Amino acid sequence: MKMSIQQLFRPDVLAMQAYHVADASGYIKLDAMENPYHLPAALRQELGQQLAEVALNRYPDPHGDGLKDLLKAAFAIPDAADVVLGNGSDEIITLITQAVASDDTVVLALEPSFVMYRLNAQFSRVRYVGVPLQADFSLDLPATLAAIREHRPAVVFLSYPNNPTGPRFAREEVQAVLDAAPGLLVVDEAYQAFADDSFMGLAGSQPHLIVMRTLSKLGLAGLRLGYAAGHPEVIAQLDKVRPPYNINVLSQAAAKFALRHLDVFAAQAAELRSERSRIAASLATLPQVTVYPSEANFLTIRVPDALALFAQLKAEGILIKNLHGYHPLLDNCLRLTVGSPDENSALLAAIHAYFA
Ligand code: PMP
Repeated sequence: MKMSIQQLFRPDVLAMQAYHVADASGYIKLDAMENPYHLPAALRQELGQQLAEVALNRYPDPHGDGLKDLLKAAFAIPDAADVVLGNGSDEIITLITQAVASDDTVVLALEPSFVMYRLNAQFSRVRYVGVPLQADFSLDLPATLAAIREHRPAVVFLSYPNNPTGPRFAREEVQAVLDAAPGLLVVDEAYQAFADDSFMGLAGSQPHLIVMRTLSKLGLAGLRLGYAAGHPEVIAQLDKVRPPYNINVLSQAAAKFALRHLDVFAAQAAELRSERSRIAASLATLPQVTVYPSEANFLTIRVPDALALFAQLKAEGILIKNLHGYHPLLDNCLRLTVGSPDENSALLAAIHAYFA
């Protein structure tokens, strides 16, 4: 007799909700930390010509070596470090978690932070420990160090700057976590293009440090290319659990092309940073709004009634991210992705009108 769905799948999978992505068609889309700009038309043409030459009948370069070399040069990855590529940094979180998972493994992350740290622990059936941030979203160093001593996690995931809160933790505190952690510390620098600090310089020379990044927030979310740099022996273990051809030929070719035109993305990141300041300054004039400092391409705010403002903006065609309900520290919080100047002006006008 056939097994039923209920018999076939793990009870925790049956009880899970699939990762929800809001339908954004027709909205000013400020919910997902995307860069608002498509590639300039001339570059698009050139890219199209290059992609037309890519041999789709062949499997991709299994190691993406040419692409890794370009990444190393473009992002100042130290010579001492090796690099692993992922289908988005999401996949790298999966690789790391899978590679350490055994019966008594613990994965630790700060809360609230990027939800995939916890979900991957669940997928790989390892115990997850979440350490709450402080009310101002700074790291609670004594609590974090105590949890590390108590649980001896194989991996600590730390988002630097942190999603969904915005600030970067104090560098000395992250260093203290690295010193104290018995296992790996993954510093997730997904938002590095908008931040003022990085741990990349230590990658490779500190055996327990992995620095993870992505091209997504830079303007290439559709490519799905993440990378992590670390000690060669650590990266070699991750490579063993990596699906052999995880970065498809079109993504490899498009990423190589994009890395030769990094100036375009750097200019956009500079504009987004300055727009971030403009939005923050404008919202700070509203007594009802608390704006948290951010080194990412989004701003997290707290308002008296997040659901009401979220609904009002949506009614006006602007989609942002409602954080209320995700974690007690995020009560009445909303996350605003920085868009183009016009999009941001529309957002600001709508928020000011709501509170007028
Ligand atoms: N890390 C953090 C902190 C993120 O916020 C995100 C995306 N929201 C990711 C990793 C995953 O990015 P991607 O899979 O697009 O590389």
